[in-house]
Amino acid sequence: MTDVRVGGRVWTLTTYTDPHPGRDNTDRVVTECGMCVDGVFTGPSTTHWDNGRGDRTWCFWCNGSNKRLRQVGDLRRAALTEAWWREHGDTIRAESAAKRAAIADGCPSNRRTVTVQPGDHDRR
Ligand SMILES: [Zn+2]
Repeated sequence: MTDVRVGGRVWTLTTYTDPHPGRDNTDRVVTECGMCVDGVFTGPSTTHWDNGRGDRTWCFWCNGSNKRLRQVGDLRRAALTEAWWREHGDTIRAESAAKRAAIADGCPSNRRTVTVQPGDHDRR
């Protein structure tokens, strides 16, 4: 189990596993690019990038190698975020919706009647 602190609140994650146990956060590891398929970037509407010489075997992030050097700390943070949303996403979404509703409800322009108490404006 792993605890993460988000916005001053502690969330317990049960499914997070360290992607690179024993490595420092500043260590760099070679990973798959993740932005392309085998070094060929295919964007929305099947846009391809080329390398300026007409070759289509290219990807901006990995230079067509499908390998990227990434910091272990970045990969851990990505894995934590992914686990946090997977485990607590429903709670986070429900609380955000409740907050938005409360703000909309509390906004004076959304109220039909605004009540002003006698001492509201003459506090010293
Ligand atoms: Zn790539």
